[in-house]
Amino acid sequence: MAFEITHVSALEILDSRARPTLAVTLTLADGTVAEAGVPSGASTGTREAVELRDGDPTRFGGSGVLTAVANVNSELNAALTAHPWSSLAEVDQAMRDLDGTPNKARLGANALIGTSMALARALAASTDTPLYDWLPGFGQAHRLPVPCFNVLNGGAHAPNPLDFQEFMICPIGAPSMAEAVRAGAEVYAALKKRLAADGHATGLGDEGGFAPDLAEPEEVLELIVAAITDAGYPTGKAGVAIALDPAASEFYQADGSYRVNGTSFSSEDMIARYAEMIDRFPIWSIEDGLGEADNAGWQKLTATLGEKIQLVGDDNFCTNPAIITQAIADHVANAALIKVNQIGTVSETLDAMRICHEAGYGQMVSHRSGETPDTFIADLAVATGCGQIKTGAPARGERIAKYNRLVAIAAADPALPFGLPD
Ligand code: PGA
Ligand code: ZN
Repeated sequence: MAFEITHVSALEILDSRARPTLAVTLTLADGTVAEAGVPSGASTGTREAVELRDGDPTRFGGSGVLTAVANVNSELNAALTAHPWSSLAEVDQAMRDLDGTPNKARLGANALIGTSMALARALAASTDTPLYDWLPGFGQAHRLPVPCFNVLNGGAHAPNPLDFQEFMICPIGAPSMAEAVRAGAEVYAALKKRLAADGHATGLGDEGGFAPDLAEPEEVLELIVAAITDAGYPTGKAGVAIALDPAASEFYQADGSYRVNGTSFSSEDMIARYAEMIDRFPIWSIEDGLGEADNAGWQKLTATLGEKIQLVGDDNFCTNPAIITQAIADHVANAALIKVNQIGTVSETLDAMRICHEAGYGQMVSHRSGETPDTFIADLAVATGCGQIKTGAPARGERIAKYNRLVAIAAADPALPFGLPD
């Protein structure tokens, strides 16, 4: 499929936290025009590809992205329009070569991922193919993912005293995409009622979940279980189950301990606490239960709980094929979180997912806490058949856009199965 790119340009726009990010527009020689919005995280892994920020304190407190925008408009535009191409993978590799650094620090992973996403979208559109059908998979059949709604926010995403970052509800037992989204919205509404009845504030964190003044994770879990029941759903995998992302790197201390609500815990203490939580609550998945620097702790966590629940690596994996390959060899986790901007090209994202698939590791496609209305990740989840996605609460436009896209894909293609892979 030879194709020619005639123009690539970028614009500095705002993300959902009012921080600058990029909108990339790409034009093909056949006249197809496609756009992409670049996501941005707050609790980032140290080995993520570099999100290029200007550092000019007179604009957006240093977080402007005009340098990355200029890199798209000049270097990337010149290179990508120079000659015809044969595949997205070829263009992604050329952008990496042009950048020349191991972590995309020169041109910026934000510049590269926006361009890569816009190109994928343009190539799909130019052949009149839905993006989820066009994106190359790797042997997992297309499938609609279980949506994991982050209904209660803490950590780096909210100003409350809660150290754990994300409490997600996952309608694993729902019969369809639309019913899963409905369950998410109904439990979210029931949770709001419960919080209000208990006198808690119902303001929202960065991902649209409530951010009440609660400090103990178990207290939150009790409320969520009650909300699931209030909404009329069974708890657990047959109905609505719970996933956690403590994002433990954020409360991992220099002395190797974890500080939760003012108390210090060792890795072993944390593992024991998770084991208790799993016994008490319908938790099926824990992401970043320990810090990215605590590889020995991660190995113990995996050995202790890896047979019982899904253990997802995010900060420690960074959607990086080489890092994930090593983690698989080290028996760390049994699933990976997949964030396109952590690695910086669509092709490498697909590589990371394929490596997980081949090793029997799960893959959960994910948004970032800073988002745009871009729905690329909804199509990515369907295309790869990974069976799970987290993209925030069933609230706030930039989160809802992804869930609505999944409902639209389900309606357009009724033969697509829904749910976790077998
Ligand atoms: P981030 O958070 O986008 O702020 O990194 C999401 C996560 O930790 O999964
Ligand atoms: Zn995470």
